[in-house]
Amino acid sequence: MEEVFQNETIKQILLKYKTIWAIEHAQSVLGWDLEVNMPKEGITERSVAQGELSVLSQKLILDKKFVELVEKAEGKDLNDYERGIVRVLKRSIKIAKAFPPEFVREISEVRSKATMAWAEAKEKNDFKLFESHLDKIIELSRKAADYLGYDEHPYDALLDLYEEGLRTVDLEQVFAKLEKDLRPILERILEEGKFPREHPLEKEKYDIEAMKKINLEILRLFGYPLGIRGRLDVSPHPFTTGFGIRDVRITTRYEGFDFKRTLLAVVHEFGHALYELQQDERFMFSPIAGGVSLGIHESQSRFWENIIGRSREFAELVYPILKDNLPFISNYTPEDIYLYFNTVRPDFIRVEADEVTYNLHILLRYKLEKLMINEGLRASEVAELWNDEMERLLGIRPRTYSEGVLQDIHWAHATIGYFPTYTLGTLLAAQLRAYILKDIPDFYGKVQRGEFEPVKEWLREKVHRYGSVYPPKELLERSFGEGLNPKYFIEYLREKYLG
Ligand code: MG
Repeated sequence: MEEVFQNETIKQILLKYKTIWAIEHAQSVLGWDLEVNMPKEGITERSVAQGELSVLSQKLILDKKFVELVEKAEGKDLNDYERGIVRVLKRSIKIAKAFPPEFVREISEVRSKATMAWAEAKEKNDFKLFESHLDKIIELSRKAADYLGYDEHPYDALLDLYEEGLRTVDLEQVFAKLEKDLRPILERILEEGKFPREHPLEKEKYDIEAMKKINLEILRLFGYPLGIRGRLDVSPHPFTTGFGIRDVRITTRYEGFDFKRTLLAVVHEFGHALYELQQDERFMFSPIAGGVSLGIHESQSRFWENIIGRSREFAELVYPILKDNLPFISNYTPEDIYLYFNTVRPDFIRVEADEVTYNLHILLRYKLEKLMINEGLRASEVAELWNDEMERLLGIRPRTYSEGVLQDIHWAHATIGYFPTYTLGTLLAAQLRAYILKDIPDFYGKVQRGEFEPVKEWLREKVHRYGSVYPPKELLERSFGEGLNPKYFIEYLREKYLG
């Protein structure tokens, strides 16, 4: 295969970058181990080790010679891959440079305290315990936006941290369409009753060992390279981590009932893993290895979870596996499994939301975040506003803070600006579906027969192989000739739920 990196300055950059890469590799292993294996009290030393390694890699990113090399490379005649290297590194340098060390230290302390306060507040259902921490986080996030700089809104600077190039104006259009179209769709689904609000399978208890077997069998069906380039483990919150292109691990959890939660989590995480596994291997050890953004990454996981995992054809495909391992399945048909995977109801908790209501949960958070950062909304006003918006969007009012404003950890982690990437991913997944149906008209037939190779090949060709070479918006334009467009998601919902 032809070498992708030819330019001498780029080669020098990559030589230096290898150490940064190695630190990141070690950080991924430490992070994975913390979630999957670590005894409780190990956290004290682990968090110090991780903090020190972060400082070290920041130092290397901001090393004068390294920065000079990146600047020098920028003026050269480069190919797309090399330009990708410069773009990604310039961005890392800009972010590392933006924050003074005392600010980094302060935000990290505030985050630790806020996370503890949030956990207690959630457990005791007492928003007051979290309020002053949230105020501090709003203040620091606003400050972070000023350090980073922005053209129009301070919130844009935070959005860009999670999704390169994403701005409030992009989201305004997207959420305006969702707000207008989703409510009537939801009302009609509930009225027609073809898709149940609840399903008896949600209550069925399962044997954890049997469920593990099912998850592994589904991963084998997808062709996930278990034991070769991947693993499935257990952690409190399911996640995917790529140590490199040839070691991409996923996790799930087992609640012991309502098996779709663990099963669809595995399908979701597989989508993330496949993105990392199917990159161009020539990017190994370089800064363009790895998915380009959270939104594009989530589009891959949602494609597998929603478009494939929640299809009738997938229910038919996995039915025999379920029946072989879970005795209660013989009381149900494949169609029951399909309906169970697709219950629709307005409910309080985002992570348990169906694909129809999910984006309304994000819309609510987006509105509040925008007000916090752009308009100076105070924490004391957030809880009430949360409940009012929930009532307006979903027609239900949380009875407790724990099932309302305190449900997510994101704000305690000071990651304001993160939530919208979930919506980007969900919408893009439906967009990918429209494109793949044009290229592979028998897509659903292939799902039903478990023929995933052509689907994976298509995803590799259109998205995965590029790693971070192109910024998210450019990647979409190049591969599909258009950027994010919410109409595909709305059409998908209408066809599936009302067609
Ligand atoms: Mg995800």
